[in-house]
Amino acid sequence: MPLKTYERPYLRKLNAGLGNKFGTRNSQVPVTEIDGVPVAKLMEEYGSPCFVLSEQTIRQTYRNAVRAFSTRYPKVQMAWSYKTNYLNAVCRIFHDEGSWAEVVSIFEYRKALANGVPGTQILFNGPDKSEDDLRTAVQHGSLIHIDHLDEVYLLSEILASEGLKARVALRINMDTGVYPLWDRFGFNYENGSAWTAVTKVMAQPRMELVGLHCHIGTYMLSAQAYAVASHKLCDLADEIRKQYQRRIEYLDLGGGFASGNTLKGSYLQGSDVIPTMDDYAEAITSTILQHPFAMSGEIPTLYLESGRALIDDAGYLLGSVLALKRLGDGRRATIMDFGVNLLFTSFWYEHRISPAQEYSSHHEDMVLYGPLCMNIDVVRENVSLPLLKRGDRVVVHRVGAYNMTQWMQFIQMRPNVVLIDRQGQVHLIRRRETVDTLNEMELTPLHLELGQGKPA
Ligand SMILES: *Cc1c(COP(=O)(O)O)cnc(C)c1O
Repeated sequence: MPLKTYERPYLRKLNAGLGNKFGTRNSQVPVTEIDGVPVAKLMEEYGSPCFVLSEQTIRQTYRNAVRAFSTRYPKVQMAWSYKTNYLNAVCRIFHDEGSWAEVVSIFEYRKALANGVPGTQILFNGPDKSEDDLRTAVQHGSLIHIDHLDEVYLLSEILASEGLKARVALRINMDTGVYPLWDRFGFNYENGSAWTAVTKVMAQPRMELVGLHCHIGTYMLSAQAYAVASHKLCDLADEIRKQYQRRIEYLDLGGGFASGNTLKGSYLQGSDVIPTMDDYAEAITSTILQHPFAMSGEIPTLYLESGRALIDDAGYLLGSVLALKRLGDGRRATIMDFGVNLLFTSFWYEHRISPAQEYSSHHEDMVLYGPLCMNIDVVRENVSLPLLKRGDRVVVHRVGAYNMTQWMQFIQMRPNVVLIDRQGQVHLIRRRETVDTLNEMELTPLHLELGQGKPA
């Protein structure tokens, strides 16, 4: 008879079916399927851990955002924020829905071109644009969002040497009442840097100032902050109209809308406190439409670069339990086969985690660790879950944003990523890395080659 697994007895109160601080049960039902595909089957075929994306959810979320804005405002253009998730399959879904591309590096820029986005539909943001990068963007007729004055000077030289013109926007940062201020990107509105930048760009015969851009932060819990930002961009546009008789064609309000995730330390569930897409849309569009700038002539096109809010909910991470243990203070610890290497966002979020199989009604507060040999590898510091055992499967919800771009290759390799299409078909969209993937980039100096023999 095989030995049963043994755990030293430990007296501890379990929670059986009791309410939590919200009055609801903890984890209501096991999540055994995603878009009709059994979790167990996905993990058998693609391994554990593995990322899953739902095409249905991506399209639905995107359409809801477009509806929220375009029912309130006549000229809206989305630009997919590549850094949020630049897997090509994901980007192509957004482009297929009509989204342009918003990129912050030449790497992302080239990905967008390769995904079929015309250069004129790429918004090029970010502080790091080299001479070559800017030349490429100019040649493709992209919209260059200028971050600092050195970029104005560099771009001016490039345009002169190429004999070309560029359509540019200025990135503006400002006080919107949300702190800390993100004042490291672009030109500050309140201290006059923004206006200085306007005068510099207006003096450039080869630059056409067509837009004003801001990206005030990320996971913004206040829709009102966007009203403030919209107002300040409109004020600036109006001033440009008055001083230069130039009409700004577009206002880009950036991204930063919150997803349904719950921030660490938040008393209420994220989905209960975050503004809806309609709240953000109302704050932005009503401000612009009522501003003298919009009423003084053709209303500006509204560009949006939402990332997190459009993809987070569509992503899942499937993983399994490696081991259980008791910590020095008696708390239960559950060790998972995924950690902060794959779930970078667990530094900020309390991700919802569901068991993927039937479980008992006994819950225990526990800490969830990842598999990395480093102390900060904590997925959840304190979560109430049913008692899990080695091999049990779990589903982590709302992981579509940033995890697949900020994942780190430490000790472990990055796993498979699959997409479930709207017919329930599963597609591998990024193969898991192997030892060969990594070794391919390494070179061994001749004297360290195996079999070279050591000199006596
Ligand atoms: C990251 C980023 C976005 C997307 O931000 P979210 O918070 O994911 O919506 C948009 N615009 C710029 C310039 C960015 O850097």
